[in-house]
Amino acid sequence: RKGTAVITGASSGLGLATAKALAETGKWHVIMACRDFLKASRAATAAGMDKGSYTIVHLDLASLDSVRQFVKNVRQLEMPIDVVVCNAAVYQPTAKEPSYTADGFEMSVGVNHLGHFLLARELLSDLQSSDYPSKRLIIVGSITGNTNTLAGNVPPKANLGDLRGLAGGLNGVGSSVMIDGGEFDGAKAYKDSKVCNMLTMQEFHRRYHEETGVTFASLYPGCIATTGLFREHIPLFRLLFPPFQKYITKGYVSEEEAGKRLAQVVSDPSLTKSGVYWSWNKNSASFENQLSEEASDADKAKKLWEISEKLVGLA
Ligand code: NDP
Repeated sequence: RKGTAVITGASSGLGLATAKALAETGKWHVIMACRDFLKASRAATAAGMDKGSYTIVHLDLASLDSVRQFVKNVRQLEMPIDVVVCNAAVYQPTAKEPSYTADGFEMSVGVNHLGHFLLARELLSDLQSSDYPSKRLIIVGSITGNTNTLAGNVPPKANLGDLRGLAGGLNGVGSSVMIDGGEFDGAKAYKDSKVCNMLTMQEFHRRYHEETGVTFASLYPGCIATTGLFREHIPLFRLLFPPFQKYITKGYVSEEEAGKRLAQVVSDPSLTKSGVYWSWNKNSASFENQLSEEASDADKAKKLWEISEKLVGLA
């Protein structure tokens, strides 16, 4: 039978390119988990995806109610769930003031981490009950949260500190909107959320890999400088960032190439190892990459897991 993969944020950029790459193999049905149904539908059509190769299901990660409703809706499709890809993200580098999810969390961490945390926890039992030979839960990471890299050292650097802001609810009411308890900084909030993504993947691996057989993985797909992720950046940055990445850092990858990479992590029979953060070298060969000290800190991962559980109502 075909595999079924849920991909969040499949209406643009990396998520759409991955959905297309998987659908084109004829071996995958993609559940496009998107907040804007019409946008997703138009994007799938424009990408030339075969109508029978995908199903769009509404998901707004900025609302825990929407996440729970999505889980119900997806179960009603009565399709097995073989792979889940937590890909959607918001990046607000120029925001002067924080914005908030429906549950009152700072938006970047609320969407990128907490929404996905609840989704992944809920869908784990579905993955477990699938009879697909290689079941996978993938959380897209990034180089920018890794302070052991050049890109990760561009200020403001990611830093979760002792997680006091997160423990306080990340709501600006009696607690900071930043995980480490500091002043709001949209670019840092994004990087922090990516560290959360990578820590969460590893904590899933430690807690559930043996018991469930599910492969947990993260990846850095390369710098896809043309996606909508940079839509809120200043115009000059948007003009110069793609050529800078293409010709100076040479870290640039096209959306199509990045989509193929993520599709590999979804389906390649040789990428079944769990707990890995995948990256690609200049010849587009995958390798197991090292995470920064903070992004591989097991104590922090455990603490993040326990606080996140409380915030999303699982504990
Ligand atoms: P895009 O902005 O193109 O795509 C982000 C997707 O997330 C969109 O489909 C967007 O939906 C969706 N999304 C945003 N907010 C929500 C929400 N509240 N609920 C549901 N979906 C939401 O960015 P990319 O494709 O570049 O990013 C995809 C992933 O790749 C992210 O995890 C990012 O961190 C990661 N990444 C990107 C890199 C890059 O260079 N671009 C580098 C490293 C990692 P909508 O279409 O409705 O806006």
